[in-house]
Amino acid sequence: MALIVQKYGGTSVGSLDRIRNVAARVKHARDEGNQVVAVVSAMSGITDKLIGMAHELTQEPSERELDVLLATGEQQSIALVSMALQELGVDAASVTGRQAGIQTTGTHTRGRIMQLEPKLMQGYLDAGKTLVVAGFQGITADGMIHTLGRGGSDLTAIAVAAALKADICQILTDVDGVYTCDPRVVQNARKLPEISYDEMLEMASSGSKVMQSRSVEFAKKFGVVFEVRSSLNDNPGTIVTQEHPNMEDVVIRGVSIERSQARITITGIPDEPGMSGKILGALADAEINIDMIVSNIAHDGFARHSFTMHANDLGKAQAALKPILSDLAPDSAIQTEAGIAKLSAVGIGMRSHSGVASTMFKALGENGINIGMISTSEIKIAVTVDEAQIEDAARAVHDAFHLDKAPA
Ligand code: ASP
Ligand code: MG
Repeated sequence: MALIVQKYGGTSVGSLDRIRNVAARVKHARDEGNQVVAVVSAMSGITDKLIGMAHELTQEPSERELDVLLATGEQQSIALVSMALQELGVDAASVTGRQAGIQTTGTHTRGRIMQLEPKLMQGYLDAGKTLVVAGFQGITADGMIHTLGRGGSDLTAIAVAAALKADICQILTDVDGVYTCDPRVVQNARKLPEISYDEMLEMASSGSKVMQSRSVEFAKKFGVVFEVRSSLNDNPGTIVTQEHPNMEDVVIRGVSIERSQARITITGIPDEPGMSGKILGALADAEINIDMIVSNIAHDGFARHSFTMHANDLGKAQAALKPILSDLAPDSAIQTEAGIAKLSAVGIGMRSHSGVASTMFKALGENGINIGMISTSEIKIAVTVDEAQIEDAARAVHDAFHLDKAPA
């Protein structure tokens, strides 16, 4: 008898009909002779609605009360899914974060899981029950309710799978796996049978929002192998695991794109120690998330920095930079550019293959796509392009690496 942890996201439990569908799927896994622990999110839209209500009452809701409020979303789902299961004759029990023994630390609304004491869950399983666990919530050592950050039900599922030593952890969602690129953009994108944790993390942080990054990091740390698959059909999904020799031998695993990026270029910065730290410090203090950074020394002897961020942060970034630049770099000037997008090619095969960047840049050049900035990591090459060209760029790079075909 296998122990299966299944996580159902907000869309999958988004209506009573969908809840019935989840119950039927859980029952099916159960009827096949498995023990099942379902981890569920709040019904889609509920978390946002609760946050909205809080903000209507007060500009800055207390984070302690926000946690108490937001945790109710998942609590509705576990009760409803358990009832739907009971209606199908399954002996189901709902389990809150506290009952699941999920102990957290850190701050309100961004709790981190410290440990999980699955005594109650284990007892229920031993008694033959099917469990429905609330995602996204835990409890501090002194009894306060914590939530785990947006999308945190994934983390709950991974942690529950680790603590119960589950045989399988399935993340059931509204996409049916991880693709070589977004299939809405690249029609012949291919669903990957497997992807390594590191590739999944790079894809997630460069625009492919399948799963919360923290959950993937947690899974990597605790060696939890999981599968991303659809909650609407029975097709096999994508296994996310440690890289291993039998994984498809490719140079590039996938291509991800991120739209709505903007760039700021500062020229005329004195070329002396401490400058970059102060400039980026001003942006960090304004809580602006900087992505790519390129700097060099211009022929005039001054340094110039360019960096990218989400276009929504452009105004805030300019406001944060003005005072510090007029103070430290009176000769400086700021240029801004919106309407750019980022394309990243990701693959662990890059570590051992050369020529990846040249293949990618050539493909872009041949398709008349101009490259703005370039950045690389051990397993990623990213470029910025004009946002209007991002889809063509993705198709060109996808074709250049033949990502539509499984390697022989
Ligand atoms: N309900 C929470 C959210 O919307 C947690 C989750 O869905 O994973 O962020
Ligand atoms: Mg969600």
